[in-house]
Amino acid sequence: MTMTATILDGTETARELAERTARRVKSLSDRTGQTPCLATVLVGEDPASVTYVRMKRRRCEAVGMRSIKVELPDTTTTKQLVDQITTLSNDDSVDGILLQHPVPKQIDERAAFEAIAPQKDVDGVTLHSFGATSLGLAGSGYGSCTPAGIMHLLKAYDVTIAGAHALVIGRSPILGKPMAMMLLAADATVTIAHSKTQGLGELAKQADILVAAVGRPRFVPGEWVKHGAVVIDAGYNPGNVGDVDFESAIEHASMITPVPGGVGPMTIATLIDQTAIAAARRRGIDPDG
Ligand code: NAP
Repeated sequence: MTMTATILDGTETARELAERTARRVKSLSDRTGQTPCLATVLVGEDPASVTYVRMKRRRCEAVGMRSIKVELPDTTTTKQLVDQITTLSNDDSVDGILLQHPVPKQIDERAAFEAIAPQKDVDGVTLHSFGATSLGLAGSGYGSCTPAGIMHLLKAYDVTIAGAHALVIGRSPILGKPMAMMLLAADATVTIAHSKTQGLGELAKQADILVAAVGRPRFVPGEWVKHGAVVIDAGYNPGNVGDVDFESAIEHASMITPVPGGVGPMTIATLIDQTAIAAARRRGIDPDG
């Protein structure tokens, strides 16, 4: 039986989240006289990364937040990058730090991430943030933005997570792993699949919530989607193609994210909102107050 799936509209949900962020920023600026500020760090000139950083800076402006940019050549060493990020970590006028990744191969990305002060890790990339996510410690650390944005989207559409069987395909440090931890913290029964997983199609058919975070175009065919499942496509491949075969998956799903217009806008909106939250916390103010 064919379902009429609800499209999970990330563009609209991100717009609503940005409105909340703008209110946070205004309230903070009025109360403290200081405008929250995101520092973006870009190493090299990868065209996709240049575009992402520009989009993030524009979103800052749209909610009334400041941003400063640091641009480094693609010959930058780990030490030079760590020193630069440490300077931002110690700069009292900076509330959040985004290191655009991937970074050039000669750089130790983990070392660079760990130079971000935990209270400024608004992209949720440090060991501290992952630990806080894994232990379910809201209020300490920040969620990795893509999975945190997905959780926001699921909640916005009243998806029942507790007791659901969630399958996360992918286990990267910024996406699959924190996604699995967040779903677990929300009481889902979680399965994590990766490149060595056997019988993936059969596992997928048992999933009430299926998150594809693989990086392979149309990797998940519609026949893998359980009748009535909620399908989240975190993939973003060249040509605006996701990791799910949307046309066939929509025949089986009850809810599904489009690509583009699903997970992508939520990621950026979450980054900007977490920067406003970080600014409030650093000033000892309740971000929701
Ligand atoms: P990644 O670091 O390359 O990780 C991909 C994961 O997929 C790995 O865990 C890998 O397993 C797994 N995988 C690869 N082939 C597989 C297979 N045949 N069967 C099962 N699992 C397989 O990628 P990522 O950074 O997590 O990104 C994933 C996708 O999300 C990409 O399309 C990326 O563009 C997109 N993305 C979107 C946003 C956004 O804002 N919309 C943000 C970040 C990423 P192993 O661990 O075994 O290698």
